[in-house]
Amino acid sequence: MSSSLEQIRHSFAHLLAAAIGEMYPGAKNTIGPAIDNGFYYDFEFPLGPDGKPQAPSDKDFLKIEKTMRKLLPHWKGFEKISVSADEAHARFRGNPYKLELIEEIIKKGEEVTLYKSGDFVDLCRGGHAEVKDMRQDAFKIERIAGAYWRGDEKNKMLTRIYGLAFASKEELDAYVTMITEAKKRDHKILGPALDLFTFSDLVGAGLPLWTPKGTIVRNLLDEFVWSLRSMRGYERVEIPHITKKDLYVTSGHWEKYQNDLFKIKTREGHEFAMKPMNCPHHTQIYARKQWSYKDLPQRYANTTTCYRDEQTGELSGLSRVRAFAQDDAHVFCRMSDVKSEFLKIWDIIHEFYPVFGFSLKVRFSRRDPAAPEKYLGGAERWDKAESVLREILDEKKATAIDGIGEAAFYGPKLDFMAQDSLGREWQVATIQLDMNMPERFDLTCVNDKGEKERIVMIHAAIMGSIERFLSLAIEHYAGAFPLWLSPVQVKVVPVRETNLAHASEVGALFAAAGLRADTDVSDTGFGKKVREAKDMKIPYTVIIGDKDMEKGVVTLKSRDKGKIGEMKAEDALAMLAKESAEKR
Ligand SMILES: [Zn+2]
Ligand SMILES: [Zn+2]
Repeated sequence: MSSSLEQIRHSFAHLLAAAIGEMYPGAKNTIGPAIDNGFYYDFEFPLGPDGKPQAPSDKDFLKIEKTMRKLLPHWKGFEKISVSADEAHARFRGNPYKLELIEEIIKKGEEVTLYKSGDFVDLCRGGHAEVKDMRQDAFKIERIAGAYWRGDEKNKMLTRIYGLAFASKEELDAYVTMITEAKKRDHKILGPALDLFTFSDLVGAGLPLWTPKGTIVRNLLDEFVWSLRSMRGYERVEIPHITKKDLYVTSGHWEKYQNDLFKIKTREGHEFAMKPMNCPHHTQIYARKQWSYKDLPQRYANTTTCYRDEQTGELSGLSRVRAFAQDDAHVFCRMSDVKSEFLKIWDIIHEFYPVFGFSLKVRFSRRDPAAPEKYLGGAERWDKAESVLREILDEKKATAIDGIGEAAFYGPKLDFMAQDSLGREWQVATIQLDMNMPERFDLTCVNDKGEKERIVMIHAAIMGSIERFLSLAIEHYAGAFPLWLSPVQVKVVPVRETNLAHASEVGALFAAAGLRADTDVSDTGFGKKVREAKDMKIPYTVIIGDKDMEKGVVTLKSRDKGKIGEMKAEDALAMLAKESAEKR
């Protein structure tokens, strides 16, 4: 039987610690788990004369790898050694981290186990690979970072060495290639380079500002989602971005998400908060009157900015921000409507994502039947809700990942994962059934028997947030958006000064037809103009020179297909208009 990747990765962490022990005799090793794509190990390195830890740097990676490769052939396996508390203490004397771990193991009444491979012995609870599965050519030291002991900033800062490890060289190489490509596509670099968004120190970290070009892309995405919703009976609503504290006390957010809220004190001393989500506000739009079951479902769509007080260190480009626009929607309906409403949202998701070339996987996030206390509402309601979701999966013939225990405490959900052009998987849309909020806000309808009936609520963001979706889309396309989504669709470039007037006319013709056309009227040379259009990844360039003018044509070039040829401006226009409308 071959070892699992996790076992392989964890075993390489041992090998790293062995190599560091040999190369840096004063280093104290602490913990070394397997992680996605590899492993890490945290060390305390002794301080040098300059008062800084004498830790390795990126220049030492190859040396560390070399030492690991030297040691590995001497390893025959991981030999388990059970020791008494005293023996364990004696062995790790001088290493306060291991002593702390040993104390904890003893306190729990567990056995203290060491594992010996070659001459290296480490405190470990086990879970190792067979040494034959630790391939010399399938690991790599990746990077170094600081990390607090046990993740607590009150503790000492340690040096964390990250490594990559796979079952084979091919898998390692494929991963490294993917990461290299991903770096080139990093939206944090490409976004500003394409003039889509910017950050300002005065405005603050995690608060992206959208340029005219970026705003075009955002609106196009939002309009696309709205077009799919409006044909399914959704109505747009609008809400303020702040609320009295009372709303979140009732919804439970005040207690639960205290630290994530931006709070505001008014001059009269009242407490308000910036909204971290829209659902509580939307409940109050529903609650404006007593609905009959005949009026249901009520479907409210609202693309609007939410605010969360993320920690500065956690912020990252558009992926983790303090202000983000959710393409949010909530459906207020009866339990008997849940299936048809979920199906509508399912269809929207499946019409939306494939347009971008994202392939989707679905996870059925249901409750953990072994822990009923974690969930709100009785078993009967949950059984009903989960069986409805299962029916949907059957009807759609979808193979879902079984997300047992992945449900929200207030209801089961369908979570969608999208795979991008680099093969990376991202959690994107979710459809969530909520049996909690209608309870908290006492939302009802009058049913066919004239009685008040508790309704349910469905949360249904398609993109999640526009910021996050765009961060994925920029990297997925490497910034080269398809025609329909490009902020500038066509650049009209005159070869010389004498072609400028005609170029402007052609540009105006394209613009009048609704295409986002930009005529280059700058003084720069022709070559530079064409290069700029290329750098900005504009899908089409229309070139107009003397010959083109004589023949009454333009020369059309495509970013993706190269030169298309000479044609009448009207024909080029028709071609582009068609492609844009089809969202190809
Ligand atoms: Zn181990
Ligand atoms: Zn919601």
